[in-house]
Amino acid sequence: MLREFLLKMAGSALGQWRSMRSMSKGQARGREMAAFDFDMTILDRDSDMAVGQLLPSTERTAELFDLIPKCGWIAFIQHVLQMLHQKYGIDAVAVGRHIRSLPPVPGILRLIRQLAGHHSNMDLFIVSDSNCFFISEWLEAHGVDHLFAGIYANPASIAADGQLIVSPYEEQNRCELCPVNLCKGRILDELISMGNYKRVLYIGDGSNDLCAVQHLRANDIACIRRGYELHKKLTENVHHRPQLSCGHIVTWRNGHDLYEQLPK
Ligand SMILES: [Mg+2]
Ligand SMILES: [Zn+2]
Repeated sequence: MLREFLLKMAGSALGQWRSMRSMSKGQARGREMAAFDFDMTILDRDSDMAVGQLLPSTERTAELFDLIPKCGWIAFIQHVLQMLHQKYGIDAVAVGRHIRSLPPVPGILRLIRQLAGHHSNMDLFIVSDSNCFFISEWLEAHGVDHLFAGIYANPASIAADGQLIVSPYEEQNRCELCPVNLCKGRILDELISMGNYKRVLYIGDGSNDLCAVQHLRANDIACIRRGYELHKKLTENVHHRPQLSCGHIVTWRNGHDLYEQLPK
């Protein structure tokens, strides 16, 4: 399983590099892109919190959760993974097994299959502040890993003793909307310019998707999960509402009603 994961990671990185390199601007003209957030957009859970639940309740202290506002999500998940492994013998394989059992947002797998469908001219990506191990384990368990052209998330590796290690995607201080470890807007800009996409769909739910939707262009579509943080940010507080330059905003509750609202 470990060997399989390492090969898979190497394979997907190579595949991604090859597909980007071979995609000249002329060839890609006319193609579209769908970029998905992962937690609460594809997975109907927050993956870091779900893995934190593997700790016994006595370990889930206020001090542990204080790490999130004080030091960020990477520090939180690193600490959780270390405790799980060192105190409870829960290694990467066991963490992966738990991740694979978590439920999808209703209808989202059907939406992914429809967008990536046979006659589609659309490339699918994940842009997430979760990590590549959780995301690729889950996508594989649900039979949709091959439908994505790339995963942009915090990298993960497995130590010789079996502990899962998560590291930051980058260290940035240019964007104040995003955490220091990953700016979604910059990733989106890079994908758009590499693929020269005529239209982009961005599908997300959280405040950490605000930067990405602000990088969308006039013809792009922001798909925002109704009732969640990003939706609240964009609809509450009329005077301090962030402005979007994309011309189309779709709000959705699940994969079924989102698909119904997208242009066919
Ligand atoms: Mg999310
Ligand atoms: Zn950003």
